[in-house]
Amino acid sequence: MTKALDRSLIKRLLEADCEDPLASTDQLTSQEIPPGVDRRTFLMRSAVGGAAAVMMGHSISAQERTAKALATLPQASSPKPPLAADLNVVKKGQGPVLTTADEFYKVGPGPSSSHTIGPMRITYDFYQRATKLPADKLARATKLQVNLFGSLSATGKGHGTERAALAGLVGNEPATVDPKFLDSLRDKPDQTFPVKLGDKSINVSLKDIIYDATKGDFKHPNTMTVKVLAGDEVLLEQEYYSVGGGFIEWKGYTPPKKNPPKYPFRLMKELRAHADNNKISIAKVILANEMSIAGRTEAEVYAFIDKIINAMVATVKSGLSMSEDDVLPGPIKLHSKAATVYKRAMDDKYASDKGIGALSAFALAASEENGRGHLVITAPTGGSAGVMPALVYGLLEVRKVDRQKVRDGMLAALAIGYLCKHHATLSAAEGGCQAEIGVASSMAAALTATAYDEESRVVENAAESALEHHLGMTCDPVAGYVQVPCIERCAFGAVKAWTAYAIASNEIASRHRVDFDATVMALAETAKDMNSKYKETSEAGLALSVTLC
Ligand code: SF4
Repeated sequence: MTKALDRSLIKRLLEADCEDPLASTDQLTSQEIPPGVDRRTFLMRSAVGGAAAVMMGHSISAQERTAKALATLPQASSPKPPLAADLNVVKKGQGPVLTTADEFYKVGPGPSSSHTIGPMRITYDFYQRATKLPADKLARATKLQVNLFGSLSATGKGHGTERAALAGLVGNEPATVDPKFLDSLRDKPDQTFPVKLGDKSINVSLKDIIYDATKGDFKHPNTMTVKVLAGDEVLLEQEYYSVGGGFIEWKGYTPPKKNPPKYPFRLMKELRAHADNNKISIAKVILANEMSIAGRTEAEVYAFIDKIINAMVATVKSGLSMSEDDVLPGPIKLHSKAATVYKRAMDDKYASDKGIGALSAFALAASEENGRGHLVITAPTGGSAGVMPALVYGLLEVRKVDRQKVRDGMLAALAIGYLCKHHATLSAAEGGCQAEIGVASSMAAALTATAYDEESRVVENAAESALEHHLGMTCDPVAGYVQVPCIERCAFGAVKAWTAYAIASNEIASRHRVDFDATVMALAETAKDMNSKYKETSEAGLALSVTLC
């Protein structure tokens, strides 16, 4: 069970107990922590045992204390979340980071990248596969069917997953779908649409999207299947996983082959070494890697980044333009706050609150657009889609920071998102809200530090600080809607990003005691240990305690 306790230690403890049992509280606890045991719990139990013995007038040996503490320890905590070892999203982390900007920053309809953008990409992908079936099979096809499992089933209704899945099935892609089409599915749910498969045309409707089992032995919490049927006979079936941030995988998935990066890195430590050794910024390392991995020119990379910056600015503007009386869709009947908070921020009476008020309003604006199901940008996800746009808007439109510096900030932010995806997760269904708003805030801190020309260590420290102070944050959306706590949480994530930048740029960088890689590891471990009720299932936390009336 545990290595033998030091005899002289036992002797000293016994002697001390005999002389004055309260001489030192150290002696009330066993000093050896048995392996595989939670240190804090063990020490508490051991101390309580020792103290009880002293109060009863007994002496107790360290071995007895150890045995008593172990006997009263609670059973091991709940099992780890059910992620299959063969998923690429689980196997990642071994080689260098190979994710590219266009895989990461995705434009699509809110409110959730894993519950709207992912499922829409999945059904669109399946539709393309189905069209390639042999003509004789297609001639027999009678039905298309989508089954949603796990978190997709538990909270999909609040996210509009069935509408997103149907939209993909009828040939829409997230970046170009008209949000009005999705709204029309909500307002007129009985509509049917013809889907052309070879010479056949099959009618599909929301009835073909089935909310299936919420619990089971799934490879990933966001699992779905899509089928072409001929009566009861399955002509084609594919199992898919929406693994977070709009990324998708399927059974048998192998990641696409990519070119090697110019500056390979797995860790922030390695990324920063490339930057420092070559006397370039983190942003320039990412730019060089984008060019080498994806075979793009510098102009092409920046053109894509500009598209994303413009989309972020547009989503903030659109959110701010909504009426103060606007009510978001869904049962919460949540009133929009962005315009009101912005109006107050601009009022000279509250001049000292202006910065924090305006930043919060920008984040609320973009996040409320997500709640409306309008187009947002995953950075890294839909639920967190208010954080990065708030800083981008503030830097460009308010502080008038040079656009090139904001572009560089967007590249540095990618490095943060890539590393979190590589070693931990961007999926609330895997890791709770720390994986969404926490990562978004960390990215926004790196963006801000880079835009203000801070050196690589300060960029790292800012990102680390923002992520550190979101660790453990759970996902418990009320009624399964990405509104409460999500919308205000985006404002807090944006403000924390600014605070992280303010601290990092004012401390001596080398004195920062927590490195980014350690915090990403803590994110990964916390994600694994978090009770699954707090992973986008709406089974606990605010989702339980808030009563809608
Ligand atoms: S609580 Fe956080 S992780 Fe969960 S849906 Fe809301 S924003 Fe996303």
